[in-house]
Amino acid sequence: NLGRACLSDRALAAARGVSQGYSTLEYDLTAGERGQRYAHVEPLLCRLTGAEAAMVVNNNAAAVLLILSALTAGGEVITSRGELVEIGGSFRMPDVMAACGAVLREVGSTNKTRLSDYANAISEQTRALLKVHTSNYRIVGFTESVSPAALAELGRSRSIPVIEDLGSGCLVDLAPLGLRDEPTVQASVKAGVDVLSFSGDKLLGGPQAGIIVGKRHCIDLLKRHPLARALRVDKLTLAALEATLQAYADGTALQEIPVLSMLAQTPEELRQQAESLCRRMGGIGVTVEVVSTENPVGGGAVPTQTLPSFAVAVAPRDSAAALEAQLRQRPVPIIVRIAHDRCLLDMRTLFPADLDEILQAFRETAS
Ligand SMILES: *Cc1c(COP(=O)(O)O)cnc(C)c1O
Repeated sequence: NLGRACLSDRALAAARGVSQGYSTLEYDLTAGERGQRYAHVEPLLCRLTGAEAAMVVNNNAAAVLLILSALTAGGEVITSRGELVEIGGSFRMPDVMAACGAVLREVGSTNKTRLSDYANAISEQTRALLKVHTSNYRIVGFTESVSPAALAELGRSRSIPVIEDLGSGCLVDLAPLGLRDEPTVQASVKAGVDVLSFSGDKLLGGPQAGIIVGKRHCIDLLKRHPLARALRVDKLTLAALEATLQAYADGTALQEIPVLSMLAQTPEELRQQAESLCRRMGGIGVTVEVVSTENPVGGGAVPTQTLPSFAVAVAPRDSAAALEAQLRQRPVPIIVRIAHDRCLLDMRTLFPADLDEILQAFRETAS
């Protein structure tokens, strides 16, 4: 809720460069004539994800809107009852489908949906099979869902396109960072899903964008749809996205992209940073202590898991609520969490450049 992903230095530089002067966004240098808006970013997306074709729209909500409008309007879309997601801001899958002119055909139950449920619901009216990643909730316990590979296989055998809304759009396996069950885009492409969409500014760590990858004949239909023009992205977004993706291609994403480098910080690194900040704050007379914390990922990703971290806990002179409000209303707002009547500054999400601002704030609130 603090502006989604923070951009990498490379993405910022690219956005700045492209916005200052002229750009070849829609100019083909080889042919010397008008070119394709997605010519720069599409090959990179295809290389990273293994897909045949790609395009980019305003956000993932727009991507879902375009995909359903172009591929399913006037027909039925088969979806599991366990995946009728609301992502917030009243974007609910059943409502989006209605707005696109498609009829939702729910199958299975809240906790269990089998391949046969989809297969039995296929009719003359079926335009697509839709899988939605339950990005911000999990159904646990007595559950069953159909894998992208199994759904893709069914779609292929019945000549019906399979669509997947992946939500966060992770391009790296997060398991080594201690986060399980966040699917990668590459895995769904490899599984044979025809059209996939995901956000640019969640786990991908780039600018606000909705990225669509998949089979060429499907993506071509999307590119030609009238909504594509209405939902298109500007040159700043494309430049920042290309630079963000380039970090993945270079193998430096975990170092360069803030959301990933924050997730990748080890508890030991975070503890050392917390101790250092604690000493500096103690030096200006604030009552502080290093405490261990658990970090949820947030931003509609990995909803049931946390990462171990460390925070500096500040004991308020008055009340934690009063201190929290005071910090929040500064010219550069500092947003803290309250636990056990203390204000917590969690090290995982602090940039080194933030530390001076924090010390200054506490110098002023102390006086
Ligand atoms: C976040 C999310 C969206 C919307 O993405 P935006 O980029 O915020 O528009 C759509 N579907 C799922 C499953 C999501 O998690």
